[in-house]
Amino acid sequence: MLTDDKARERMVSEQLIPRGIKDPRVLHAMAKVPRHRFVGGERVSQAYMDSPLPIDEGQTISQPYMVALMTEALELKGDEKTLEIGTGSGYQTAILAELCARVYTVERISELQIKAREILESLGYTNIFYKTVNGTLGWEEQKPYDAIIVTAGAPRIPTPLVDQLAEGGRMVIPIGDRVSQELTKIRKHAGEISSESLGGCRFVALLGEYGW
Ligand code: SAH
Repeated sequence: MLTDDKARERMVSEQLIPRGIKDPRVLHAMAKVPRHRFVGGERVSQAYMDSPLPIDEGQTISQPYMVALMTEALELKGDEKTLEIGTGSGYQTAILAELCARVYTVERISELQIKAREILESLGYTNIFYKTVNGTLGWEEQKPYDAIIVTAGAPRIPTPLVDQLAEGGRMVIPIGDRVSQELTKIRKHAGEISSESLGGCRFVALLGEYGW
């Protein structure tokens, strides 16, 4: 089968480890979560290939390597509260739910979030909280977050997200134009922000206030 454990193990050994993903917890989660459930339809057989794939509403499920890279950058140990902007298919959400205490996930397109939630609940995740709203404003009521991940490309760092990041917290976000971006990692220390680039990437646009 193209969708079994072996396909996922190959994805880890042939795509993720050779490109430098090291965190054993991240590698374990990537080997465990059934990406094909989130891909669905006629593309199921492509679920463990090294590429992003289209999902409904003109959006995309990120490439496995990109999911692993962004997740590793969040430095999750298990007890964190994480905010995700852009639920999309829900695949990245599942990986986060494996690796931290609670995931708060926000999506602007309700059809996508309903579908993602159905799959995540059917897989047994109970540590995910959902909201359909424009996520550039974050999720103020639940702040602060130890980790924030934005899975859509933004022209600049949305200031509400920086405000909602805990002291010592990490955020990953693609920053750039509508075609290509720099994957940017931000760390908050003593109220100050430091940032580093993790390389180039291509994400669909983050829409709305503080986005496009
Ligand atoms: N992590 C997802 C990526 C989906 S693509 C996956 O791998 O499946 C990015 C998602 O961000 C899209 O579903 C899009 O609708 C959503 N999005 C874009 N702008 C947003 C905003 N301002 N608030 C919330 N979600 C947004």
